[in-house]
Amino acid sequence: MIDSHCHIAGPEFAGDLIAVIERARAAGLAHALVILAADDESEVEQGRAVAAAWDAVRFSIGIHPHAAGKFAADPAAAAQVVDARIGAQPLARALGEIGLDYHYDFAPREVQQQVFGEQIRLARRRRLPVVIHTREADEDTFRILGEESAREVGGVFHCFTGDRAMARRALDIGFHISLAGIVTFPRALELKEVAKLVPIDRLLIETDSPFLAPVPYRGKRNEPAHVVRVAETIAELRGTDAQSIGDAARRNFERLFNP
Ligand SMILES: [Zn+2]
Ligand SMILES: [Zn+2]
Repeated sequence: MIDSHCHIAGPEFAGDLIAVIERARAAGLAHALVILAADDESEVEQGRAVAAAWDAVRFSIGIHPHAAGKFAADPAAAAQVVDARIGAQPLARALGEIGLDYHYDFAPREVQQQVFGEQIRLARRRRLPVVIHTREADEDTFRILGEESAREVGGVFHCFTGDRAMARRALDIGFHISLAGIVTFPRALELKEVAKLVPIDRLLIETDSPFLAPVPYRGKRNEPAHVVRVAETIAELRGTDAQSIGDAARRNFERLFNP
């Protein structure tokens, strides 16, 4: 198994990080991609503790669209902050999460777009894949990915919640699709269809811990060990077993993030 996206360097895990990592190991996780917010000093610091406790960890570092407003006066500075953080973290293997979030609109959309574009340019300079967060912003997300030639580096649409048409667009530009615990929710019928159509060599699985705990842990803090539930659900939908989903996701992780 792998967890392609988790936030275990966040404050929710400060108190019991070692126990969380032990449970992840016991669940058979071979790799985890831990997201670090480049503008969050305490998260970056806790990331060092995560790396010290779990050698299977690799990092993705970026400025989340929610935080883009901090760089309204100088969007290029967002990429400079990320560049410095990546330079200081030898286990960085991706740039993100980056993208657009028009659901919350915590930052003006124009600023989100500029900060997103600057970071894709940085990813190309550094030859790192990108981890995309997009919510209610499909058209602008694909437009900017195209304008900035993101397919040169590729990456993943994390916590994918789009429909089959959007999944095909993401696949058409060479990206991977990562499914989170939402796929276990009974009413996520369209997402279950997406889970059936993603080619096995483009599929990733994630928890997005501490968010989005899968059934039967809904409403509780999520953690990487629960990625097994995501794999089990996808396996049921595809008529296979959880181990083969986990194995495929692991191979895809290794090819994309070069751990
Ligand atoms: Zn996200
Ligand atoms: Zn996330």
